[in-house]
Amino acid sequence: MRLRLFFLILILFTGCRSNSEYTIISGGFRFSADLKLSPAEKRADSVLNARRKELLTRKGDNWSLFRSFTSTKAELQKEDLYAIFKKMPKGGLVHVHATAAGDVDWLISFALSMPECFVYWSEENASYTPGQLAFFPDGNIPPGWLPIQELAHSDPDLKTKLFRLYTLGPEDENLPDLWIEFEKIFKRVGAFIYYKPVFISYFKNSLESLASEGIQFVELRTSLGKILNEDGTTTTDEAVIELYKSVVTVVRASHPFFDLRIIANAGRGGTLEAVGDQVQRINRFKLQYPEMIVGFDLVGEEAKGYSNGYFSPALLNSQAPLFLHGGESISASNHNIGDAVNLNAPRIGHGINLFFFPDLEKTLIANKTLLELCPISNQELQYVPDFRLHPALGYLQRGVQATLGSDDPAFFQSLGLTDDYFVAYLSWNLDLRSIKKLVLNSITYGGQSYPAQQVHLDLFNKRWEEFIQCVNMQ
Ligand SMILES: [Zn+2]
Repeated sequence: MRLRLFFLILILFTGCRSNSEYTIISGGFRFSADLKLSPAEKRADSVLNARRKELLTRKGDNWSLFRSFTSTKAELQKEDLYAIFKKMPKGGLVHVHATAAGDVDWLISFALSMPECFVYWSEENASYTPGQLAFFPDGNIPPGWLPIQELAHSDPDLKTKLFRLYTLGPEDENLPDLWIEFEKIFKRVGAFIYYKPVFISYFKNSLESLASEGIQFVELRTSLGKILNEDGTTTTDEAVIELYKSVVTVVRASHPFFDLRIIANAGRGGTLEAVGDQVQRINRFKLQYPEMIVGFDLVGEEAKGYSNGYFSPALLNSQAPLFLHGGESISASNHNIGDAVNLNAPRIGHGINLFFFPDLEKTLIANKTLLELCPISNQELQYVPDFRLHPALGYLQRGVQATLGSDDPAFFQSLGLTDDYFVAYLSWNLDLRSIKKLVLNSITYGGQSYPAQQVHLDLFNKRWEEFIQCVNMQ
């Protein structure tokens, strides 16, 4: 009898304990705990959750999506649940790089339509890499360059070959250094995009496509480099910003509330002096265009470039807030997140390796520092082998604030933000409250001033209500 009573107490005790642990862990997306869902939102949460359960049961635990977005994306994008996420209002896209923000298929077709466009189609050398695009208004064509239309005439597979050269895919998975290939893509398409007639069409197409995915504003990371004119001259510094502004005016004809902001950047492979010069240049822009220039950042592979701390003397002079890449790494010796915190950065790009530094995580939570998470980028660049193993899930559970970005979607065969939200929803067991918080954070942590921020919040709330109604009619 005594023994039976002992076991009864033991069962009750352990049962209670496991229940309370379950509550803490499973319901514990602390970063979104302050949001209260309406009854309609709770119904929508159940609708989406049931659909996710059906999809994941049908695909099984070994679904290739978790380990390879590029080989599964076509199948993924046919799902009804994906179509719902495509319609979801997404607030701001606050982590995306200009050269990789568009659509590679569009880029190839546009290049093929231009008789003056040349492609390098010879052996790799220090200056050029196969598939590199350029224009030569002065008529001096270096060896190895061909008019792209001439090459297309003799090679019917050119489009497919170029697509492989301008994107990462399964064929690149076993490369010894993926970043070398990744950076070659920037080299291949950079001079093409920054040719004035292409620049205008490319950004018009890219921004319209983002706006039609429910993105209200974009904070574009760019060095604001000069643009080549058709007569061979280059634009002045101010003309580059004016060009961006003129593109936004065109986009607003079909998306009246759309906004574009710039996070100017410098390369972390450069010298302290070069970064200092770029900070001063951007400070001048910030004075001239205070609403347009919203941040400053360092870009490039963290493992090979200098740390955020190394550039502190230059970065401390920035008049724009520091939205620094940090922790795009799985190395315990990478301290870029800590450096960014020391530099009072309100937002940090990626933050993958935060799991090595629990005290730093507490600081991020206390300071309400935002992580710009980029799940597809992290998988494609092989920092995270499986979306379900992404450490961000733990960060969100413990209360680190975050939003989602797409980083370099064109090069990852992705478009916009739907793909990132969808894989995060499927892989991290997020509830609708957390999805909404990720989106809201993109607005409340955005670089725009208060009145503009309120306009975007009001617009988002209206669109969100319509979205919830739409989900509940499914
Ligand atoms: Zn980035």
